[in-house]
Parts: sequence; structure tokens; C-alpha cells
Amino acid sequence: MNDREFREFMCMTALDEQSKAGQYILVAKEGAIPWNTTKCAEAGIDCPLASELDTVLRCQDLTLANGDRIAPSKYVAYGEKDLPKVGQVQEILVHPTHKSLIGMLVVPCVLESEIEPYRFPRCRRVANAQCLLSFEDILCAVSTIHNCAEHGCVSTMTRNVIQERQITINRESEYLHSVEPEDRLLNLAQLRSSSIIQSLHHVLPEPEHQTCQEMIKAAVQNRKEWDLTQSKAKGNTSAKKRKQPNAPSAPNPHQATRARTNGQLCSSHIEETTSTAVSVPGAIPSADVRDTSQCANNA
Ligand SMILES: [Zn+2]
Repeated sequence: MNDREFREFMCMTALDEQSKAGQYILVAKEGAIPWNTTKCAEAGIDCPLASELDTVLRCQDLTLANGDRIAPSKYVAYGEKDLPKVGQVQEILVHPTHKSLIGMLVVPCVLESEIEPYRFPRCRRVANAQCLLSFEDILCAVSTIHNCAEHGCVSTMTRNVIQERQITINRESEYLHSVEPEDRLLNLAQLRSSSIIQSLHHVLPEPEHQTCQEMIKAAVQNRKEWDLTQSKAKGNTSAKKRKQPNAPSAPNPHQATRARTNGQLCSSHIEETTSTAVSVPGAIPSADVRDTSQCANNA
């Protein structure tokens, strides 16, 4: 383990890396700002420190314990690992003298039903419910995506290409998400911190789609009910026939019948083929009934 090349070869360099947890980057060229001008004060939250602060520093970036970097407007999971909540970071505050982290202002979000075609839940912010969280409360960063399908986002050639740290006049495509930019969906397919992300399924409504086994079971049940209905209908038809002995007999649908009419041979052949394949739940089992009448001159 003391061999650096061996650690690199085994992709184990992270073992001896120093933790960057709690490291932050202050907002450039801002300096200390009065407490009453912060979003925390706007939300009616008092300073959590024993000694009231007149000024605070704001951060543009903070590294969590697991290495995730969060920033204002980004989304995080917080609370218990088994029962996490999702919120949007609004502000990260630091003590102006001790340089210690005061807390993060987070807007809680409600996860609503899944949105097609993404099958991700809508992440709706709850108004006037901000809370000031400590560093330990934040579990990880979570990714969200814009609901582009519903709002018809299209790519535009508006982004300037940066080459060698210089902005060029060349343009490349980008999505601006200008319509309802706050309509966000929680990306449940996120691989990083997936154990926490998957715990968020508990707050989602029951999915409408079924598993494969459930679909097969429902299809078999549908088929049984269909067969029962058909057999009852046939039973009723045959009972009516017995009650009317003089009535003309109906053609047997399973046998071809032939009749000579005006020198023509007509054959009426009703083929009934019933599919034995597994049907989709809720759908009527496929019964393909074809009436093929063929008339040919019998010279
Ligand atoms: Zn969009």
C-alpha cells in the first residue's frame, strides 16, 4: 500500500487523499454583508449562533463529506438516510471571523407523480418553508433535469465556444430552458449516492405500470374470464335453439357449407382462430373472425 504506482494502478489513490469536506469558496469580490440583507433574514430565520452576527460571508461553492460539491440553486438530499428529503440550496453562510460554516438555507421540495416520458418525479418547491441546515444534515447532492418534453425546449446556436480560455465567435448548440425553468424532475437514475437516491422511491405514488410477472398473471386471468363469457354465450344460444325446433338451423361456423344458387357454387366459410399468445392486461383476447365468401361458376 505504500507503493504510489501500485495504488494508482489499483485505482486506490482516494484512500490517502485528504478529505475536502467542509471546504468552501466564497463569493468573489463580495466581502462581508449585513445579516439583514441575507435570504435567511428575508425568510425570517434568526442567526443560529449565540452571539448575534452583524455581518456574514456567503459561499458560491461547498464540498460535502462524500466529496459532492453543492452551490446555491443546486438540489440536495438531507435528513435521515433511510428517509431522505430533497431541497434546493438558496444560500451558504460562513462566520466572518472564525471562517466556520454557519449553515445552508434550503427550500424543501415535494416529489410528485412521475412525468412521462422520463418517468422521474416532479420536484416542486414548497413556498415559505425555508430552513437553515447544518453541514451534517446534508447527505449528498442530487441531480435534477428540466421538463423539456412538456415545455418544448429546442436547441439554439447561442453558446460561444471557448478555446484556450478565450471566448470565440464560434457558436454551438445549447438548450436554454426558457419556458418554466423551475419545472424540474428528480433524476432517480443517478448512480452517485444511489443508495440514498433509491430511498426516495418511498415518497412516490405507486407506479401504474406492472412487472412482467404481474402482466402475465393478469393476462391469464383475462383469458379465463373471456373463455367463461364465450362458453356462457354459446350455452345460451344452444338453449334458444332447443326451444325453437322448427327454426332454420344456423350454419356451423366451424364447417364450410356449400349451396347451389342459380348455377353458382357458393361456399361460406367462417374461420375462427383464437390466439394462444399471452394478451396484454385489459385487452380483449385476440379472436380473428374472418368471413370468406367465394363464388365460382360451376360450368
Ligand atoms: Zn428544457
